Amino acid sequence: MGKRKKLALHWKILIGLLAGVVVGLLVNWFWTGSTWAALGVNDPAAYVGTKAVYDASVAEGGPNEDAGIVAGAARQVRLATVFAGQLFLRGLMFIAVPIVLFSLVVGVSSLNDTSRLGRIGGKTIGIYLVTTAVAITVGLVAANLIGPGKGITEEQRDSLLSEQQANAQQRIEAANEQRQRTTWDIILDIVPTNPFGAMATGNTLQVVIAALLVGVALTMIPREKGRPVIEFFDAMTDVVIKIVEMILIIAPYAVFALIVVVIADLGVALLLLLLQYAAVVVGGLALMVFAVYPLILRVFTPVRYKRFFRAISPAQLLAFSSSSSGATLPVTMECCDERLGVKEEIGSFVLPIGATINMDGTALYQGVAAVFIAQLFGMDLTLAQQLQIVLTATLASIGTAAVPGVGIVMLVIVLDSVGIPLEGIAVILGVDRILDMCRTCCNVTGDCMVASVVASSEDALRTEEEVAARMAEKEARGLDEFPKEEQEKAEAIG
Ligand code: ASP
Repeated sequence: MGKRKKLALHWKILIGLLAGVVVGLLVNWFWTGSTWAALGVNDPAAYVGTKAVYDASVAEGGPNEDAGIVAGAARQVRLATVFAGQLFLRGLMFIAVPIVLFSLVVGVSSLNDTSRLGRIGGKTIGIYLVTTAVAITVGLVAANLIGPGKGITEEQRDSLLSEQQANAQQRIEAANEQRQRTTWDIILDIVPTNPFGAMATGNTLQVVIAALLVGVALTMIPREKGRPVIEFFDAMTDVVIKIVEMILIIAPYAVFALIVVVIADLGVALLLLLLQYAAVVVGGLALMVFAVYPLILRVFTPVRYKRFFRAISPAQLLAFSSSSSGATLPVTMECCDERLGVKEEIGSFVLPIGATINMDGTALYQGVAAVFIAQLFGMDLTLAQQLQIVLTATLASIGTAAVPGVGIVMLVIVLDSVGIPLEGIAVILGVDRILDMCRTCCNVTGDCMVASVVASSEDALRTEEEVAARMAEKEARGLDEFPKEEQEKAEAIG
């Protein structure tokens, strides 16, 4: 009997995602009733078990009325999925620092010529900055052409402003704290005072610096002495990659759980009201992901559309579900290495830096949001102001941490740089989560694109055939076994 072909990982994750949307809508319906209310379904029967009824029944001494029980069940589903999603994210966070440290030390120590490192670093940062500036320009142009702010009435604006005032204030305060730091402080902060502290706090850029230094120093001491250390880091890299593979097996279920929560909490009414704004952001991001990046790949690498997306889609889907480039990093590294063919010495360097400083999606979103809020307040932005936005948003995207929701904090700094009313962020806060998911997906795609370009220019990109052969070997060996060459090595030593 022929072996049944296994469903590819990205399809499994996509199925998890779609199932999550369906279950999330059901929870949203039973829990808050907002989905159907927003779509104009006013039949009270549709609200059996809404959050309000549930809360009322709890106030009366426990969720024991029929309606309350339905909402209570929906609430429990939501809580259980929050737990499952968070558990998965913790697994990824757990592995993020070790994978950067171990693989980067091995990657750098395998570079025979350290001047190559400077060249790779220069290219990486240069391409990151240029693509970020392109992304924000796309955002600004799209928002100027479409004018999403013009469809919102003054009353709608004011009611949104008052609803989210407290939330907006929190973000403004966070931005003020951030603003206390000068560019010099930000650069200084990249250098760790204590490498273990950097690891303990999960500061990716500092871990990159520490790993670079150790890697470079390893190339400068006698090979004999360095060998055991390199072998240790090499073995640990294999260990952490194995853990990523284990985590990836449950990714489809985790994505399901993460999406259920987002959709369950989604204010659909708000999304419909801000549809035009959201559509401009999503359209701009789609343009970057599906047109600009593939075009750059086409010009500078042999990687074609299908190969690129097939390889990195697990990372994209995970970025979308988790809204965090940082949490996605281990999977991004695994996808680029195993599935796309970017060699470790490039991927282990370019990707962690990208996860922290390359935020094309965030920058694009900041461009659209700035124009949108300006339009809401009847402001016309001059060309000089828009250029100022490009500059500030490019720099802000570097200082943006790779975690959910910080893009909107940095937006405050961008708005302030051209005098757009800061409280305007209250209007867009309600739909921020869903846009955060989309921009994180773009951020991660951009990192993978740059890794391919740098790898290709450094002759460190495997061919499609080489990638397929490695994947087939891995597939045949399964998760529990050593690779053949490793096994032989182990036997020889043993
Ligand atoms: N969530 C984004 C990321 O981690 C950052 C942001 O735009 O808020 O890439």
